[in-house]
Amino acid sequence: MFDDRTTCLVVVGAQWGDEGKGKLVDVLAERADFVVRYQGGANAGHTVVIGDSQFILRQIPSGILHPQVTCIVGNGVVLEPETFFAELDQLAERGISTAGRIFVSDRAHLVLPYHKLLDAASEKSQKLGTTGRGIGPAYEDKYGRRGIRVTDLRRLECARALLADRVQRANRLLELLGSAERASLEQHVALLERLAPRILPLAADTGLVVDRAVKQGRRVLLEGAQGSLLDVDHGTYPYVTSSNTTAGGATVGAGIGPTAVHGVLGVVKAYTTRVGNGPLPTEAGEADGERLRRLGGEFGAVTGRARRCGWFDATVVRYAARVNGLTGLAVTKLDVLDSFAEVPVCTAYRLEGEECEEMPAEVDALGRVEPSYQVLPGWSQSTGEARRLADLPAAARAYLDRLEALSGVPIRYVSVGTRRDQIIEV
Ligand code: GDP
Repeated sequence: MFDDRTTCLVVVGAQWGDEGKGKLVDVLAERADFVVRYQGGANAGHTVVIGDSQFILRQIPSGILHPQVTCIVGNGVVLEPETFFAELDQLAERGISTAGRIFVSDRAHLVLPYHKLLDAASEKSQKLGTTGRGIGPAYEDKYGRRGIRVTDLRRLECARALLADRVQRANRLLELLGSAERASLEQHVALLERLAPRILPLAADTGLVVDRAVKQGRRVLLEGAQGSLLDVDHGTYPYVTSSNTTAGGATVGAGIGPTAVHGVLGVVKAYTTRVGNGPLPTEAGEADGERLRRLGGEFGAVTGRARRCGWFDATVVRYAARVNGLTGLAVTKLDVLDSFAEVPVCTAYRLEGEECEEMPAEVDALGRVEPSYQVLPGWSQSTGEARRLADLPAAARAYLDRLEALSGVPIRYVSVGTRRDQIIEV
């Protein structure tokens, strides 16, 4: 999607996450100068397969696997420093140099061990199906104006004072939530003292860096985590993540203005999955669900949890197209449908007997909608070797045409396997 005029692109998940954004970012990053993560934390879990190696990157933008790319962890991200450095070390062990090409926003908030304790304790009472990595509590602290930011590490004395207050508060909350766990101030202080010398050399005003890059016409990719239906405003609240995953969040979280963005690519699976609780209107029956899960390897990259599987839901993708202003679609995992004799697609919902074209705000209503399906013929043929649309079986092309028409967004990429080369550029 990059061209002379389209140099700043956002890539977002247009379903409930795990759409294969990692692979698309990897493909686009080949032509990019900068890749920016703009929200979320170490719960993103992109998987990129290169040759025989599989990389799971949770905190570091997957663009790091391309040597010409500078990676930015933007101000909208919550940074879990230990995961971040474990990933840097893992990359170094596998011969990938990151020196001089990764920067962390000095405005990014830190995820600390007390956030994880709070996450686990809250999840016991409010079962949202979080990944338990402390992301939610870290965002709560950010918006409650009691977060600890990367820049605070520049003055460790102040950071220590902040910690004393925050750890005490966390322990009061843990007690309130009925948890026997307590956070230790000494351990938190020691952690920050150990991490500060490693983080600070990478800390920068990254909004400035990205803004300059955009103005110079460098190719900038803003990489979303999770999916649009998990956005705290636009998702299936309260079964959502704590940040704005949608394209608006990209500019806020990268520290640039909305006019800097030239295009928004929405990544969708050729079917639908979701992790954790909350409605999934097109959830397949047990046999088909299990088959999609097995063929698609639908187990979380971070948690290993089995994903719930169902059919493509055009209502969801139309909605994602609107709230993100999508200019292109990337359809992934078409190959997972290769062996199905028929493939249902949800074209719209019915709610209490009425046609329902838009996503209802109320999560209970979404749980009650009845999907209207159009059943398309399958292609019973492998698509993994297709590199052009013309290489695909006619029924697979017809399937994609239908997804495009129902979504109202042109398909720009089709992914037909896990490998880097298994992609069709339309
Ligand atoms: P992300 O968070 O959106 O990057 O998604 P994940 O990385 O969690 O999940 C995507 C999974 O699907 C990874 O294991 C990818 O290797 C895999 N994947 C991506 N594209 C394709 C595809 O076209 N076909 C198949 N079979 N797997 C794919």
